[in-house]
Amino acid sequence: LSLSLNGSIYRNTTIHHSAKHTSFIHLTTLHLPSLSSPNQIAMALQQGENRVVVNVNMMKLEKLLCMKGGQGESSYANNSKAQALHARSVVHILEETLDLVHLQPPPPPHHHQSAVFQVVDLGCSSGNNTVDTVEAIIKHMIKRYRAAGLDLPEFAAFFSDLPSNDFNTLFQLLPSDGGGVAGVEYYSAGVAGSFYKRLFPARSIDFFHSAFSLHWLSQVPERVMDKRQSAYNRGRVFIHGAKEATVAAYKQQFQADLGAFLRARSVEMKIGGTMFVVCLGRTSPDPTDQGGAGLLFGTHFQDAWNHLVQQGLVSSEKRDNFNIPIYAPTSQEFKDVVEANGSFHINKLEVFKGGSPLVVSRPDDAAEVGRALAISCRSVAGVLVDAHIGEELSEQLFLRVEERATCHAKELLENLQFFHVVASLSLA
Ligand code: SAH
Repeated sequence: LSLSLNGSIYRNTTIHHSAKHTSFIHLTTLHLPSLSSPNQIAMALQQGENRVVVNVNMMKLEKLLCMKGGQGESSYANNSKAQALHARSVVHILEETLDLVHLQPPPPPHHHQSAVFQVVDLGCSSGNNTVDTVEAIIKHMIKRYRAAGLDLPEFAAFFSDLPSNDFNTLFQLLPSDGGGVAGVEYYSAGVAGSFYKRLFPARSIDFFHSAFSLHWLSQVPERVMDKRQSAYNRGRVFIHGAKEATVAAYKQQFQADLGAFLRARSVEMKIGGTMFVVCLGRTSPDPTDQGGAGLLFGTHFQDAWNHLVQQGLVSSEKRDNFNIPIYAPTSQEFKDVVEANGSFHINKLEVFKGGSPLVVSRPDDAAEVGRALAISCRSVAGVLVDAHIGEELSEQLFLRVEERATCHAKELLENLQFFHVVASLSLA
């Protein structure tokens, strides 16, 4: 058990442990002044309290952003079934992308080394989705190696996300004694850092996977937060329905970020490696219509913020300084960046209808639908809201989201649809 109690961040640190012996716990950006013993901290983390208490405006997004940790009701681990379903609907493209990875012949006998197949999940979050995906990838590769009559390489899986991600919960989900894939053990490690920067040594990775993460921008563009600029997002917390100048700033940020992502990956990928990416996308050419993300963050969530302002609980400036750093691109916008970057060849790039983020057992029960929407919203944006207005006001905000969503349950079930951009890329 390795605990870091001073809240320091291990950037670009990878610590190996075999899937058989999950032994490393990573505590980052942790500020729990009232907790003094490792036991208390471990208990707090189990309850999902990987909370970060900071001044958001002083803090870079990459130090702050994470999905709700732990395994509680509003944790990401407990609210990512929809993503798992959406991932399943594009698994054929994942497999096609894996089929393009070059298999490595075993090294000559006297080389004293074995081949290693290294897979990375970027934006892994914490929950079963990433473990299931990585294991499905390894399983597929084992099948390919066996079908080709080649000796199996060793397998290493890197789970990568921002430093405040709840790696602790994730590590507990990894297979323990006797685990592995199809009887083959794999080595795993957590890698904390932004995927908009270099995370791995050059030419070290065979396969990159990233699901439902690349729509998160590296930051809210500065001019969107600056009152003197025309891009200032007055009155809004997202770009859905916002001014042209605001949306243009987001689009530029998306282009710069995706370009940086591709540059980093093009250096890290082994020759013959491939990459599979799925992120939120939209079908409308108009970026002020952010599709499903727009409905999730631009309607009831927006109204709930406005209500807090009307009631004098939050100042209008405080609301205006909160912005959801998400941009859902069209497939054409995504393609334009990949082509301008030039490092990758596009094997496939499509927009898929993913479905609803609401997984409910009784669709006729408006209260359940309302609650599902509020929880789903909170599992992804709750940490940012908590950090901006504190946990009590955040609770008030999400109660208002729930009330509004309950009143519009039928409409939400009918209209809340996510579309995804799905890309299969190889080194150019
Ligand atoms: N891939 C998972 C989780 C998606 S949630 C699944 O399929 O269920 C999105 C994740 O992206 C979050 O955990 C968030 O912390 C991560 N993320 C957002 N911006 C990131 C960045 N710049 N670098 C690394 N991870 C990032």
